[in-house]
Amino acid sequence: MRRRVILLGPPGSGKGTIAAHLVSEHGFRHLSTGNWFRSEVKQGTHIGQVAKVYLDRGELVPDKIVLELMEEWLGSVPSQDGFLLDGFPRTTVQAEAFDDWLAEHQMPVEAVIFCDANVELIIERAAGRRVCAKCGRVYHVRNNPPKITGVCDDCGMPLIIRDDDTESVMRKRFGIYEQQTRPLVNYYRKQGKLSTVDAGVPAKQQIEATVRALTA
Ligand code: AMP
Repeated sequence: MRRRVILLGPPGSGKGTIAAHLVSEHGFRHLSTGNWFRSEVKQGTHIGQVAKVYLDRGELVPDKIVLELMEEWLGSVPSQDGFLLDGFPRTTVQAEAFDDWLAEHQMPVEAVIFCDANVELIIERAAGRRVCAKCGRVYHVRNNPPKITGVCDDCGMPLIIRDDDTESVMRKRFGIYEQQTRPLVNYYRKQGKLSTVDAGVPAKQQIEATVRALTA
């Protein structure tokens, strides 16, 4: 199975759900930059205070801050473990800087899973999305509900609605995705690393398609 993997796609396209499965069933080293920023905000760190302004507006945190954070994380992960990235890279600047870093360390990206979804699906998904207040695990009230309503299966903590899951913020985040992140689909397609997974199918099928792409 390929172990240096990027999950690419608009907010709410199932990346978090796929990541949770790959971590629990296949032992991937996972980083969600969004979860990282939210945790920095919660802890009130300096980075968190800066990032909060962008998160609240649904805008991207500046590349420089994101790249510093990534370098710190990658430096802390044993290279043989690989990585599963969800929410990074999000701009061409980030992708190029990341490729340079990986080339230097001789550990290129092996696969990019593109979770393809249109804006209406994303809005519908976001309306039902709930996340664990503690571990960040993602649920959907209809498509991927927890065993007990409102409670995380893993840690028993309450599920919450993210501040940036409102329809207007989601539309804005989708627009930013189209403009800044979608060009990465071609970037990785040209490298021959892209597999497309339909985000419109149930979570289970989306996960199966991802596992097939990573083992093909
Ligand atoms: P996510 O949970 O991936 O949707 O990310 C939530 C928010 O965190 C985004 O709307 C951005 O404000 C910020 N963020 C996460 N990852 C990145 C990134 N790679 N570059 C810039 N901002 C990011």
